[in-house]
Amino acid sequence: MIELTGMFQQELIDWCKERKLPAFRAKQIFRWIHQGADFDGMTNLPLNLREQLKAEAVAQPVQILTERRSKIDDTVKFLFGLRDGNCVEGVLMHYHHGYTLCISTQVGCRMGCTFCASTLEGCVRSLTAGEMLGEVLCANNYLGGKDRVHNLVLMGSGEPLDNYDNVMRFLRLLREPDGIQIGLRNVSLSTCGIVPKMYDLAQEDLPVTLSVSLHAPNDEIRRQTMPIAKAHPMEDLLCACRNYIEKTGRRVIFEYALVGGVNCEDRHAIELASKLRGMQCHVNLIPLNVVEERDLKGVTEATVRRFMSVLEGLHISVTRRREMGDDIEGACGQLRRKTIIGEQQ
Ligand code: SAH
Repeated sequence: MIELTGMFQQELIDWCKERKLPAFRAKQIFRWIHQGADFDGMTNLPLNLREQLKAEAVAQPVQILTERRSKIDDTVKFLFGLRDGNCVEGVLMHYHHGYTLCISTQVGCRMGCTFCASTLEGCVRSLTAGEMLGEVLCANNYLGGKDRVHNLVLMGSGEPLDNYDNVMRFLRLLREPDGIQIGLRNVSLSTCGIVPKMYDLAQEDLPVTLSVSLHAPNDEIRRQTMPIAKAHPMEDLLCACRNYIEKTGRRVIFEYALVGGVNCEDRHAIELASKLRGMQCHVNLIPLNVVEERDLKGVTEATVRRFMSVLEGLHISVTRRREMGDDIEGACGQLRRKTIIGEQQ
């Protein structure tokens, strides 16, 4: 079965041409796909053509398996089903400036960060570009035409830069004329810091916001929780960030998860500020979401506030990530994991 979802319009035109179908049909199919329709819903195509397409191709490779809506803030956590039986998570958040969807880029993850639930069983496989688009189309369908996803964050399970080519294709699909049309300025790509790929990304001419999971003020602490830090020292990582800022003119966001007893004292904030001084950047503090299987501690509200005020005092632009969907397995990987384990029991 061929997945049409990940094709650019021109590729779909060529694919249709091979089947003696005119370009206008390809354009119709392309529009329908990006509107979230399956073949049965492509009402301006003749019935026999829809049957023909169904026999050899897939229009919507992702479906919503379960959805859980937070009672606190309307955040919705999806479990998305893929055609091979795997599943990934997505989170839909409602902000005053519109809906933001957090999508997954891989089934699991092989980066091994010690605080993260997605990596506990390693990486099963990378998602295709069509599957990533499929996650967004599912969320749009969920909103039922009343509204749509405006912003995307690639912060679900997986490491986007470990699935580089598919993620680049996905980003380019977002700006296809006649497609879903999500501006790349409304897209954030989060990486644990695969330095060579960050240089590649800076050359792509894709103006996404780069988020970097830093989580520590120095290599010693970073290596305790993030294996990637052993491959790429922080100095190299920060050089790659400076290059990204220079090439794209966009500031970099640093994610910093506060882990009790590890990285949240005043001296850590002071060291972090000294490393980031003069950089066009912003720090996003995340109180650790405690993952049952991991032996790491969260932090108190007072610790978050104190860490934030030390950074502010040193003129570092900083906010704390709003915690959303706390009652629906907010931290990454937790819902999928509960589902898989639930199935095994
Ligand atoms: N692989 C990418 C994107 C996925 S994770 C990356 O590493 O950036 C998205 C963000 O959530 C990352 O900053 C990640 O470090 C953070 N995260 C993962 N598990 C967490 C947890 N239990 N508590 C707080 N933040 C977590």
